Amino acid sequence: MNKLFPKHAVNTDFLIKDNQLTIAGMPLSRLSQRIGPQPFYVYSRDLINQRVSSLRQQLPEQIKLHYAIKANPMPALVQHMATIVDGFDTASVGEMKIALDTRMSATNISIAGPGKRPEELRQCIAAGITINIESANELLTVEKQCSRLGLSANIAVRINPSFELKTAGLKMGGGAKPFGIDEDQIPPVLNSIREMELNFSGFHIYSGSQNLKAESIIEAQKQTFQLAERMAKDSQLAIKKLNIGGGFGIPYFPGDKPLATDKIGESLAVSLAQFKKNNPQTEVIIELGRYLVGEAGIYVCQVIDKKVSCGKTFLIVNGGLHHHLAASGNFGQVIRKNYPVAIGNKLCADKKECVTIVGPLCTPLDILADNIELPIAEIDDFVVIFQSGAYGYTSSPHQFLNQPECQQVLL
Ligand SMILES: *Cc1c(COP(=O)(O)O)cnc(C)c1O
Repeated sequence: MNKLFPKHAVNTDFLIKDNQLTIAGMPLSRLSQRIGPQPFYVYSRDLINQRVSSLRQQLPEQIKLHYAIKANPMPALVQHMATIVDGFDTASVGEMKIALDTRMSATNISIAGPGKRPEELRQCIAAGITINIESANELLTVEKQCSRLGLSANIAVRINPSFELKTAGLKMGGGAKPFGIDEDQIPPVLNSIREMELNFSGFHIYSGSQNLKAESIIEAQKQTFQLAERMAKDSQLAIKKLNIGGGFGIPYFPGDKPLATDKIGESLAVSLAQFKKNNPQTEVIIELGRYLVGEAGIYVCQVIDKKVSCGKTFLIVNGGLHHHLAASGNFGQVIRKNYPVAIGNKLCADKKECVTIVGPLCTPLDILADNIELPIAEIDDFVVIFQSGAYGYTSSPHQFLNQPECQQVLL
């Protein structure tokens, strides 16, 4: 960890040279010249590789690691991920196309999400990927489309568990949810599957996202194994694949602590060994998006004006919420908090000042950092927002106010 970084950029492994941030050995200012005048996202292959390999060391060897493309679907990045993970989870036919363009085999690609249309399901069936069934109706539609195509489908059943992932930023299981099929509605669905000519691969149980508490993830994983085992036993169907979800969070805000993945790995080794006793053939999968790529990316924009209003200093930059909705606090946050921010070409300075960084949009929502202590910045300096490798570019309303587009690069 580098002491020069803002205190809450906890996990930043980017290097500094001459008081300037570097990415893959290239100083920020030079990278900006290479890319052009607009703001940009940059993702580091090295940091992604480091993250994947250190996680693999902590997880039991038999666990398969899937990348959830939704977190960052940049095609070049997904191509890279194809060389270091075991599979892809997609959430749309658009993402499926990006996944199929890589060398990943269709058998290791799955699709989840409510509301898959018949024509989309036909594409998934033809592609040969695993379809996570999200409702009893969807199962019937898949069967119908299979007979239309004269093909069989690989399906898994997504269960909405009765337990929920405690302390998750986004809960996606437990209680009334649009995702998956409620636990108590599963037995009749499995009965129908047994009578259909579909290739049943197993279960997908996803309880939530952005969790920083190892204990709650451990607890959810234990319950997930028990649930899958119970369902398999009652239905007499063999589980070829069990996707136990993910939900690993990354620290964004002051006070957030990195997730104790070593603890999760230890507990998972025990639950996995237990589960394997009755299900030795089952392939167990963890699917992660944000945790694999979120800390490997930054968003960079430049100061275009500086002014004081009623004693408050504003840095006005050429990027904003239209490029990075999450950093503006408008993507699911209840209370706005600052992402870790730095002046990329003045990382360390004796003199600092309190500033509010805003974008060029004519709305008070366009805030990238509010009342933050930073080295004194001038026009043309670089503002860097860390933890931007996931849910950045594609989660933002780029058309809003018709400002120039931003770029994405992978180094
Ligand atoms: C969103 C989502 C993910 C990825 O979540 P992260 O927080 O990025 O790890 C994985 N699986 C499913 C089913 C999802 O909906």
